[in-house]
Amino acid sequence: MPSNIAGLKPTLLWKHFEEILKIPRCSGNEKAAGDYIISVAKKNKLSWKRDKIGNVVVQKKASAGHEKAGTVVLQGHLDMVCEKNSDVAHDFTKDPIKAEIKGNWIQAKGTTLGADNGIGVCASLALMEDTSLVHPPLEFLFTVDEETGLTGARKIPKDFLKGRIMLNLDSEDEGEFTIGCAGGADSILTLPLTRKKTGNGDVYRLKIFGLRGGHSGIDIDQGRGNAIKFLARMLWQAMHKYPFDVISMEGGNLRNAIPREAWAELYVPASKARSLASFFKRAFEKLSFEFKAVENEAENSFEKIKGKKKPPLSSKSQQDLINLLFTLPHGVLSMHQEMKGLVETSTNLAVVKTSSKRAKIISSSRSSVASALEAARNLIMAQAEVVGAKTSQPGGYPGWTPDLQSPLLQTLKDVHHKTFKKRPKVAAIHAGLECGIIGEKFPGMDMISFGPTMEHPHSPDERVSISSVANFWKFLGAVLKALS
Ligand SMILES: [Zn+2]
Repeated sequence: MPSNIAGLKPTLLWKHFEEILKIPRCSGNEKAAGDYIISVAKKNKLSWKRDKIGNVVVQKKASAGHEKAGTVVLQGHLDMVCEKNSDVAHDFTKDPIKAEIKGNWIQAKGTTLGADNGIGVCASLALMEDTSLVHPPLEFLFTVDEETGLTGARKIPKDFLKGRIMLNLDSEDEGEFTIGCAGGADSILTLPLTRKKTGNGDVYRLKIFGLRGGHSGIDIDQGRGNAIKFLARMLWQAMHKYPFDVISMEGGNLRNAIPREAWAELYVPASKARSLASFFKRAFEKLSFEFKAVENEAENSFEKIKGKKKPPLSSKSQQDLINLLFTLPHGVLSMHQEMKGLVETSTNLAVVKTSSKRAKIISSSRSSVASALEAARNLIMAQAEVVGAKTSQPGGYPGWTPDLQSPLLQTLKDVHHKTFKKRPKVAAIHAGLECGIIGEKFPGMDMISFGPTMEHPHSPDERVSISSVANFWKFLGAVLKALS
């Protein structure tokens, strides 16, 4: 194996990868990477355009005799996640990524490598230059700012692309095709609160912590606990047996993370403190038992706290808040009926925070089917209405509904089988992808996503398999020929 990256095969692809390692391209700073794409387009006399936000498209005519084939879009994102180990001195705005070959892998020294999506981008650059392949008319689409919010894809002008077949080159498992993703949208609930003048007893804090949390899409089917739901259940059960006055509640902090911690402050009459403490202890033990396989580090505490005594909620507000949090949905709402193991619709009860006059609650829903996403948000709104909470539902981002009958999928499956004598795995993910947005913007776009094997993207352990990149290139060539 050669010691330098540019000496690897496929030569054209790795030559460009070596070049882009030198170009800073953290999300939001893709100007230089776009300039590089345009320089390669100019060198190869290909037409190109760049939109206001920085997305670039390059057009290449079909190889001779294939002018009548439908235009195929090849898409990748220019930006990368910039993460480094704390002991590494590296300035992502100017230092080149120091990549090295380790056996069959390429990895950077203590930083992200940018193989996500640098390899996809370089495959497109190589195709722009290559003159040996048979291919249909091609459009190479390079988007900006994928990693922080899919903003590049969102802002592509509606007349930017002609093609209605798209190969997204931003997947990370060789032999796997992605054919769908989830759309997402939030519901923000505001419950008006009224307060009494004073509470009865001492102030205690009931706290749930040590839960695993995780990504609200990818990890939603792992059966993890939600600290807000734990807290709401314990308070709801206690409310029917013991007198106490809730002052405040808080839990979760990110809309796309499963809440790991939640707490409530409450007045407890002195005569009831001991029995309420043992009630909470037992209630938490039951919860821990139910979740023992997944949440083995979950903890709770119930402690007297000092400080200024604040006015507690009126009993109506207390009941409304606890009922609302106890009944709001969380977790998987439905599974895909044909694709085994794929979550179709879910919602994450993500954040609760009380202030003196209101409680704010955020639930973040996802689905690969637009109407099911809407229904999940309707359900949340209906529950809010029961207790008189207001719901605002800002526009989210669209999903990509898996189409198992897609002609492109059939073609790619055949080509995969012919090339590798193996059937590909066909999957979808329960999170957002650029394809969801592009598919909505360009109606009728038949899309599929694939790529070479990469491990630990978005972390300094990111690495890409050299042999897998060779297979990816071979497959890409065979696919373009089949689509010619
Ligand atoms: Zn990516």
